[in-house]
Amino acid sequence: MSDLKLCQGTSCHTYNTKDRLKGSKDNKTFQTRRRSSFYYGNGNFCSLNCQNDWFNDFGNKAIDHFGRLTEPKHLTEENAWYKQYDWRANADESHRHYFVNAITKEQRPLTEEQYEDRNYTLNIS
Ligand SMILES: [Zn+2]
Repeated sequence: MSDLKLCQGTSCHTYNTKDRLKGSKDNKTFQTRRRSSFYYGNGNFCSLNCQNDWFNDFGNKAIDHFGRLTEPKHLTEENAWYKQYDWRANADESHRHYFVNAITKEQRPLTEEQYEDRNYTLNIS
């Protein structure tokens, strides 16, 4: 058995492209795309169209299932840090890496290693 995945798009088989037309001479059908990997929707969809089709059909159910927001979320000062860097064209000058607080605009220096470390943060929680 191959480990090909099927596109989860609800209407994938209705897009009549050549690559979806399968079967023997007298028994051809347009079929859902099958690939070893997909680029869209965490590897579940062959195209943005198929991802949108799925969301149009199931998005409301999915949101209700996992919890619909009923109040706005708040990004507070203690969790508003994001990483930034200034690119230096000069070879003898290194790029400047730093944290910026989106609310207070305060900046704090970062090493390049800290910048690259996806787990390194000043944000609480
Ligand atoms: Zn598809």
